[in-house]
Amino acid sequence: MNRAALITGASRGIGRGIARALASRGFDLMLNYVRNAAAADEASAACLEAAREAGHAIRVRACSADVAVAADRDRLLAEARSFLGPLDLLVSNAGVAPEVRRDVLETTEASFDRLMAVNVKGPFFLAQQAGREMAAEVGRRAAAGLGEAGDGVRAYRPRIVFISSLSAYTASVNRAEYCISKAALAMVTKLFAVRLAAEGVGVFEIRPGIVATDMTEPVRARYDALLREGIPPMRRWGTPEDIGRAVVAVAEDLLPFSTGEVLNVDGGFHLRQL
Ligand code: NAP
Repeated sequence: MNRAALITGASRGIGRGIARALASRGFDLMLNYVRNAAAADEASAACLEAAREAGHAIRVRACSADVAVAADRDRLLAEARSFLGPLDLLVSNAGVAPEVRRDVLETTEASFDRLMAVNVKGPFFLAQQAGREMAAEVGRRAAAGLGEAGDGVRAYRPRIVFISSLSAYTASVNRAEYCISKAALAMVTKLFAVRLAAEGVGVFEIRPGIVATDMTEPVRARYDALLREGIPPMRRWGTPEDIGRAVVAVAEDLLPFSTGEVLNVDGGFHLRQL
């Protein structure tokens, strides 16, 4: 039986890159999106193709749900449960930038509330519910003696990954609400990592740097100029595939004695220089 992953915001950009990377490792997938059904269909097809190329037969379904809305989150998790069974992996990737970049002295309450709802509240409550279910499943399998060495049943090592941003620690005064939301998500990671460690659920934060997606398209020229100056030191745009590879490292349990860890996938942006 394939392992199972739910990825939020998987129709486009980084989420689609993560989905394709997991597909190529043979994960069954639930791809969440909010409104772009055509993009979600494309993402599903891309995942099936990636799996086929890698020699895996996987199942993929897309589900529209707004992670900021409680009823949508419940429906998404219920649909994932019935389609996939117990989740091996939740990737909380869906996130939004401010519709208008405003100076911190002009940040609006509406934009602040929107970003906190999508970027923090949604991931928090999805992880809360998924974490409860993962912990219960770990307990159920342990009680049944499943997954012990040699019994032929795959070990169950569930993981939760939050996709934050270099904005978790970098002050951009023209999008304060985004930075605040990502800094909060870093704490969300720590909280669930501590709470779920003894339950056998690993929790990780992946901090992408500057990645070429629809989100960064409006500031492409500005970031191109930064890259020419050596910010980040690797002087290239990140790709959704770069982030997908980091998620695979967590999903494949290559960091078995780590939890709450931050993976900077940013071309070296986070390094201080003199
Ligand atoms: P993107 O290209 O704008 O794609 C956003 C994805 O999230 C889409 O699949 C979108 O679905 C979905 N989405 C948006 N709001 C949602 C909601 N309320 N509920 C469910 N899904 C929702 O963004 P991206 O650049 O790939 O960014 C993905 C994540 O990486 C975000 O958390 C972002 O903050 C973070 N990040 C991005 C960068 C970067 O440079 N791009 C850097 C650091 C961190 P629809 O297609 O239906 O709209």
